[in-house]
Amino acid sequence: MDIDENTYAIGDRVRISNETYKKPIAQVGGYEFKWSHEAQSTGHSYWNCVNGAKCPAVIYTDGKTSDSSIVQTKQIHNHAPDPLAVENRVMRNHGRRLASSNPQLSTRRVIAQVTATASDALRSNGTSNLARTIRRQRQRERLEPPVPRTAEFEIPNQYKTMEDGSPFVLHDSSTDNIDDIQIDGRIVILGSRETLEMLANATNIGGDGSFSRAPLGFTQFYSIFHQFLFLIGMFICVLQMMNQELGILTKHGIEL
Ligand SMILES: [Zn+2]
Repeated sequence: MDIDENTYAIGDRVRISNETYKKPIAQVGGYEFKWSHEAQSTGHSYWNCVNGAKCPAVIYTDGKTSDSSIVQTKQIHNHAPDPLAVENRVMRNHGRRLASSNPQLSTRRVIAQVTATASDALRSNGTSNLARTIRRQRQRERLEPPVPRTAEFEIPNQYKTMEDGSPFVLHDSSTDNIDDIQIDGRIVILGSRETLEMLANATNIGGDGSFSRAPLGFTQFYSIFHQFLFLIGMFICVLQMMNQELGILTKHGIEL
């Protein structure tokens, strides 16, 4: 691709992303630059295009913070500007900040908030990377525990309830087995009061198990569907062993 001139010029102000990093990113005119060093003689910051060795473009700015101005440019990019990449980084950083300052906010909510102002182009790009970014950030800060790899784990309190404080974990055989029923493994039943009520009023109830979609450490993932007139809802049960009887499920789930 032929690029005749840069989309920025001396005097333009840069926007700084990842400002807490050792090497922040400067964004201007749809391009991104990584901080390199401060020139000793002038105190000016020296930034390389994020394409690194592949692209020779360089800018100098009078500072390392947002609203610093370009004081010199060198070379022309050998690639087109990518406003979407710039916007994406801004959005990811926003997501990270939001996730760490609001530990109770679900990943889905964080994504909803940060994408609310995103361009259609960026939104249609999908948010799966964003979800991963947020989860990584939380794991780094130990706000969100890693996904368990076996059935031997304690369910963290923040996942035990719905947003209104009502229970979401309806039964966990590792802690709630008050009748001391012989259970070969672990059963976790997830749902809400609302879905249980709907189940109680259902005209039809159906259930189906899946082995391939079971979480690590569990053998089966079992969903119960209820139908009331034309409304269909579901609640979910995770079984560790496949030889569990639906009778146990009934006792601990439906009759809760
Ligand atoms: Zn470049």
